[in-house]
Amino acid sequence: MSPATSIEAIQADSVQVEDEKTAIARAPSEKAKKLQELLATKLNRQIVGSLVGCIHCGMCNEACHYVLTHPDDPKMTPSYKADQLRKIFKANHDWTGRVFPWWVGAKVPITDEDLERLKDIAFGTCTNCRRCTYNCPMGVDTATLNRVMRGLLTSVGVMPEGVRVVSKDQWEIGNQMGVLKEDYIDTLEWMSEELVEEVGDPSAVIPIDNFNCEVMYTINPREVKYDPRTIAKAAKIFWAADESWTMPSEGWDQTNFGLFSGDDQLGGTAGKRVFEKVEELNARRLVISECGHGFRSTRCEAPNWSQTDITFPMESSIFTMLRYIKEGRIVVDPNVCKERVTYHDSCNLARSCGVTEEPRELLRMVATDFVEMTPNRAENFCCTGGGGAMSMSEYTPRRLVSAKVKADQIKATGATIVVTSCHNCVDGLADLIKHYKLDCKVQQLVDLVGDALVIEECAVSKKKTAAKAEVGLALDGRRILVVDDEDDARTFLSTVLADAGAAIIEASDGDQAIDLAKTQKPDLITLDISMPGKSGVEVYRQLRGGSDTASIPICVVTGHPEFRRVIYGASTAKPEGYMHKPVKAEDLVNGLRRIFELKEKKQ
Ligand code: SF4
Ligand code: SF4
Repeated sequence: MSPATSIEAIQADSVQVEDEKTAIARAPSEKAKKLQELLATKLNRQIVGSLVGCIHCGMCNEACHYVLTHPDDPKMTPSYKADQLRKIFKANHDWTGRVFPWWVGAKVPITDEDLERLKDIAFGTCTNCRRCTYNCPMGVDTATLNRVMRGLLTSVGVMPEGVRVVSKDQWEIGNQMGVLKEDYIDTLEWMSEELVEEVGDPSAVIPIDNFNCEVMYTINPREVKYDPRTIAKAAKIFWAADESWTMPSEGWDQTNFGLFSGDDQLGGTAGKRVFEKVEELNARRLVISECGHGFRSTRCEAPNWSQTDITFPMESSIFTMLRYIKEGRIVVDPNVCKERVTYHDSCNLARSCGVTEEPRELLRMVATDFVEMTPNRAENFCCTGGGGAMSMSEYTPRRLVSAKVKADQIKATGATIVVTSCHNCVDGLADLIKHYKLDCKVQQLVDLVGDALVIEECAVSKKKTAAKAEVGLALDGRRILVVDDEDDARTFLSTVLADAGAAIIEASDGDQAIDLAKTQKPDLITLDISMPGKSGVEVYRQLRGGSDTASIPICVVTGHPEFRRVIYGASTAKPEGYMHKPVKAEDLVNGLRRIFELKEKKQ
């Protein structure tokens, strides 16, 4: 394959922009004029460096998947794409461009059709993957220049329809897939129900808007709309690690279409929504679910776009899961996944954020047959779904042609699972797998870690076992009189306390309770208040007034809070404990244990 050189690209420049002489003859359209004016607001040292740094050596050509799959088309070369912005820059901000425009290639767009052609180049022939940047001896950041061009076009309303729709949803609804708040909450509740059922623990619900948690967890709206089980898997991992965590009811979209459209204002606003929610909930850490551009835009770009000082750490859930395993909070079985897996590096995570080793370390903990793609890490090829490409259906045919590079890479590994830590990549890879009929599927690390959990060994199980052992010792051999007229309630209380090691005596009415208290001399009485015949209040008074029963600790367990005033207003000694029905097993046992501990301290 012999990709076109950048010299050919320059020669083949058929984009119908016109040089300055013609521009004088014909006034630019309003949009074309505004676009040129706005360029001044985008210029900084990094951008100007890339604008003036290119020597058109062509060394970046073979880095680009568009060039490799369109070898005879010079318009696919990175330098050709970036030159579109260079021409405008030279015409407006470089004296050589003003004096010798024909010599230095200074040209400006004149008509709205010119802008449409620039749109097709900026949005339709580059996924902003930055692979060419890694292969440029001059350090030219073509992807950043392309983003600037996208931003200029977006500012004057020239953009693919998909970009317009997604940006509007993120501006107006608060997330880029237009997920309504009630649908988001419904999905979290649905996933909660499934998780509670799966792990058999009513406390395994997904917390929403809890304050003062260690972790606030944000996601990609794609998870709500197309892949909610990644939310359930993450929730299972947080639960197993016994993490103090929450999801926010708003400000939960970590993705940021501003990165793709070049709209820094949208980028700042979207990032700020997340940052403000972390502050509002007083969470100590922001954990970002596996999403390359979500991580890059939220952690690396949005603080600048939004001019916000961030006071809390932000991390990808890759790091969170890895930490839990290293700290022993979760335990995983690497033998659960028996298939051959390979790892696709998201451009944003690997090239733009340097996250290459942690996902591999984690992957090796949950899979035994892992093979690398070639090339990999920062040299990995784009999935072709990056840069918002999945939302621009008009460019799909060209994108799928360019995806052959990635398809060949995957095929060579022989893997049946491609793991990636990016939702954009999940979509891009799934699309090319279907198109090139590859025999494999795409998963994320959260899927593999969630499936590999050994729940019995995880922090939440260890904590429960320790609590049970502690509670069992505290109530071991205690003789407890359980007084309740309702069979179900009495059985529940007796069973829980017996499981915690207590010896149980039961009474189903007031008279029987007084009788058993006198004859059996229990160590403690749990007393229902609303009973037919002699009420619990009367029983309480008699027990406190009896010389042989007055010192027995009493814990009132009632479904009638109105009796609290009566009991506590009585002239007799206050009860040692008071609980409302329905009472949780753990609270009941812990409450009675504390009563015994306090009594022993006093003695
Ligand atoms: S950023 Fe990626 S897609 Fe764009 S020109 Fe460079 S290598 Fe090609
Ligand atoms: S961007 Fe860099 S590698 Fe590519 S043509 Fe220009 S100088 Fe050469």
